[in-house]
Amino acid sequence: MGEAGVDVLWSPLMKQLRGHCLCGAVEYAVADNFEYVGFCHCSECRRFSGSAFSAVGGISTAEFRVLKGQESIRHFPKSAHTVLGFCSICGSSLYAQKPLRGMLHLRLGTLDESPSRAPHYHSHVASKAPWHHIGDDLPQFASSRTATVAQASVQSNGLGSGGSAA
Ligand SMILES: [Zn+2]
Ligand SMILES: [Zn+2]
Repeated sequence: MGEAGVDVLWSPLMKQLRGHCLCGAVEYAVADNFEYVGFCHCSECRRFSGSAFSAVGGISTAEFRVLKGQESIRHFPKSAHTVLGFCSICGSSLYAQKPLRGMLHLRLGTLDESPSRAPHYHSHVASKAPWHHIGDDLPQFASSRTATVAQASVQSNGLGSGGSAA
């Protein structure tokens, strides 16, 4: 009792976005209520996504529901802070759970439609792929978006290595 927030989170007034993996085994719904939306350029997101960066939306785990195929989702505990979820059939990257914060970083490429909030930053650009050029004017963070402000808006220069977040 006392979980006053739950009913609000799942209010029919809160728009729900649907998404699914490549093979369709996994379907989910997520509230159109991302706290932050951005592109993570860390080396681990590159591996997990197989691409230059990962488009992620941060949302409370309570606002994400698997509608179908829970049994097809496999989890890889990357660290104490991050558990990656993916479809065991087609391999689609679905999300990164942040258990210590109760957050989930949804891989936006699996959405069926656009979230209301557009991407508004690049994170971990200090370890971005040297072959990738960032061609927009969004703020860039050398490491985490929540790192000190002094690190914000560095020019991407391809230096550095390591770095992982989403
Ligand atoms: Zn799948
Ligand atoms: Zn990352």
